[in-house]
Amino acid sequence: MSKTGNEKAQDLSALKLGSSVAARQLKYSLFTAILLGLAITTFQIISDYRWLADIYRQANQRVVDSSSPVASEAATKKDVALAEVMTRGMMLQRSVSSVTIQLWDGSVLYHQKRPVGEIPTSRWARELFGGLQQLKIPLENTVDPSSATTGTMVVDLNPQVFVTAFMSRSAWSFLANMVFAVAMAAVFATLSYFVLSRPLVRLAHYIVKSDPTDVKHPFEMPPMHRHDDEVQLLGSVTVGLFGMIRGQIGQLQRARDDLLDANVNLEARVESRTRELNDAMGKLEVLASTDPLTGLANRRVFMTRLEENLSIWKRRDTPMSILLLDIDKFKLLNDTYGHQAGDAVLASLSKLLQRSLRDIDLPARLGGEEFAVLLPGEEKEGAMILAERLRASLEQDAVAFGGKHLNYTSSFGVISLPTQAAIAKMDAEIARDVALLKSRENSDLADILYSLADEALYRAKETGRNRCTFADLSHLSVQVKS
Ligand code: GH3
Ligand code: MG
Ligand code: MG
Repeated sequence: MSKTGNEKAQDLSALKLGSSVAARQLKYSLFTAILLGLAITTFQIISDYRWLADIYRQANQRVVDSSSPVASEAATKKDVALAEVMTRGMMLQRSVSSVTIQLWDGSVLYHQKRPVGEIPTSRWARELFGGLQQLKIPLENTVDPSSATTGTMVVDLNPQVFVTAFMSRSAWSFLANMVFAVAMAAVFATLSYFVLSRPLVRLAHYIVKSDPTDVKHPFEMPPMHRHDDEVQLLGSVTVGLFGMIRGQIGQLQRARDDLLDANVNLEARVESRTRELNDAMGKLEVLASTDPLTGLANRRVFMTRLEENLSIWKRRDTPMSILLLDIDKFKLLNDTYGHQAGDAVLASLSKLLQRSLRDIDLPARLGGEEFAVLLPGEEKEGAMILAERLRASLEQDAVAFGGKHLNYTSSFGVISLPTQAAIAKMDAEIARDVALLKSRENSDLADILYSLADEALYRAKETGRNRCTFADLSHLSVQVKS
């Protein structure tokens, strides 16, 4: 998951303005400056040494060259005063530590030495300038140049004064170079802080604070940068990038909105189609289960409910009855008053049936002018009472049609499936046949009951119509055997 602006800001809170880049810059600058300072110092020390060694040699040479004629004069004339003046002059050269003028016979005309310890010799004096040296210069006879040497001038040289000068020059040079190096490093680091670190970190803070995905607020510009350089370029590139992000997000949002709209439309359409389909299916179910003329259940529904009740009779010993009903001389009624009058009678009869029955009873139109009523839980006596009551009501029904009141009668065939207790009270043979019915398939059993009820209905017609007849269960034996 990408971090939010706030989280990024917390990550960067440790980054103080210009801290790390400038610190690193300072470190590298210092390192480089010190290296450079050391190199310059070394170069200076070497050239200083060469220069001083040269001066040392030349000074010695000059002292010897300029003093040897005077020393010859002093030795020839045995002039001690002259020797002393000359020696004092030589001693001005601080590398000269002692001067001795010996005569040809070995006697010493003049000897002078610096006070002991005034200029001690060091290891560096030996290493760099050859340490203590002794020069022996033969002195010529100034009166008779042809004669042999008149003596020797012995000069002791001590380079310590040059060593000291060299050392102090080197130390100062080192110090000065290092101070310069550190100062330059600080200047570079400061410059890098102002030129690079600070603008970069400001830009970083700007990037962190900006949220290019927040299209509701206008863009903030990057912090002011006065120079047309790479940092400025980086800022411009960042703004350009933010702009692109914003553009892409806008496009994405529009696409998402379009998609959502399409989805909502689709959902609404699916919902309305589903509703229409459910309505149609509901209507279809009503159509499939209802008789259109009378609004009663049709034969299919009646048979289904009947088979359910047969199962209940078999398993729970719950009794049930069926009334089969047929309008008497209906053909005549049709012929006399017309088919529409017949239809009006059928509708009126159906309404009367619905009004007179309990909720659990199911009246149905089996076809034509033949009806049936399923009476769950009802035994023979109850069923016969109900059939009789219905018959009487139908007889009283006067159907208004074409300014007339049409009367009609109906005949009933009734059959019941009794409880176990009722079966026990029956004639043994019939009781056995009824009991045997329990082993029949529901559809077979339904057919048997229907045919027995139909037989009873036929007998009702035969015996004068407008009456209720109970099925003859003794006829079961034929059915049971088949
Ligand atoms: P019975 O007393 O023996 O039952 O005499 P019936 O005239 O009723 O006998 P039948 O069953 O032969 O006649 C039934 C008549 O019912 C035949 C037909 O014209 C009429 N019928 C059947 N279905 C309809 C219907 O939906 N509407 C009308 N108006 N008449 C119908
Ligand atoms: Mg009929
Ligand atoms: Mg009839």
